[in-house]
Amino acid sequence: APELIVKGLKATVDGKEILKGVNLEVKGGEIHAIMGPNGTGKSTLASVLMGHPRYEVTDGSVTLDGEDVLNMEVDERARAGLFLAMQYPAEVSGVTNSDFLRSAVNARRGEGNEISLMKFIREMDNKMELLEMDEKFATRYLNEGFSGGEKKRNEILQMMMLKPRIAILDEIDSGLDIDALKVVSKGVNSLLGPEMGVILITHYQRLLNYIKPDYVHVFIQGKIVKSGGPELAERLEAEGYDWVKEELGVED
Ligand code: ADP
Ligand code: MG
Ligand code: MG
Repeated sequence: APELIVKGLKATVDGKEILKGVNLEVKGGEIHAIMGPNGTGKSTLASVLMGHPRYEVTDGSVTLDGEDVLNMEVDERARAGLFLAMQYPAEVSGVTNSDFLRSAVNARRGEGNEISLMKFIREMDNKMELLEMDEKFATRYLNEGFSGGEKKRNEILQMMMLKPRIAILDEIDSGLDIDALKVVSKGVNSLLGPEMGVILITHYQRLLNYIKPDYVHVFIQGKIVKSGGPELAERLEAEGYDWVKEELGVED
C-alpha cells in the first residue's frame, strides 16, 4: 500500500514563501481532508506535490514509498501514482478527451504495457456512465466549453481511469450543485480501498458528508496547524477558523 510522507515542506513563488513547513503522512486506505481559509496555500501544496515548475521548494522532503518525489519529473510523479484533480482544470484545444485520457493511462502503465483500444473504450464507457456523463464528452476537446460541473466530472473520470495511488482532490466541490456533488462523490468513493490514499482539499464541510475523511487537518498560513477526526470539520463549519487562530496566537 502507498505511503506519502511530507516533512517540513517549504516552497516559494516569485520569491514569496507560501508553504511554511508542511507535515503530512498519508497511507493507502486513508482519506485526509485539508481545510482552511482562502489564500493560505492549499492549492500551492497540491501543485508542489505534483511538481509544478512555477514553485520552488526551499526546504523539506516528500517521499512516496520511500522514493524522493521532489527529485522526480512531473511525468515520473504521475507514473509513480500521484494524481491531482485541479480546482481550475485547463482547457486544451485540438486534443479530444478520449485521446488525452488514453495517453495518460498509457503513460501511467508504462511502455510495453499499453491498454488495448477495446479495453480502454469499454472502461471509459463504464466510468462515464457511472459519472452520468454524456457520451459526446469522449470526443470533445479536453474541457473546452465544458461547464464547471462537467470539468469536475471529467477530472474524476481521469482519476477513475488512472487509478492513482495517492489522489489529491483540490476543491472538487467548488461550483457543484448537490446532484453533481453526489455523482462526483460516488465516483471517488467507487475507487476507495487500501491501495489508494486521498488528500481532499476543501473549503466546505459539505463535501465531507459525501466523502468521509479519517483525518481532518486545518491549514492556515502555509502549514497544517491542527489535526483531528471528522468532528473537527463540524466545528470548523459551525465556528469558522478564528478559534483555531486564537488557539495558536496567529493573526491575519
Ligand atoms: P488556497 O488554495 O489556500 O486558496 P493558494 O495556494 O491558491 O491558496 O494561494 C496561496 C497564496 O499564494 C496566495 O496569496 C496566492 O496569491 C499565492 N500564489 C499562489 N500561486 C501563485 C502564483 N502562481 N503566482 C503568484 N502567487 C501565487
Ligand atoms: Mg482558494
Ligand atoms: Mg485553492
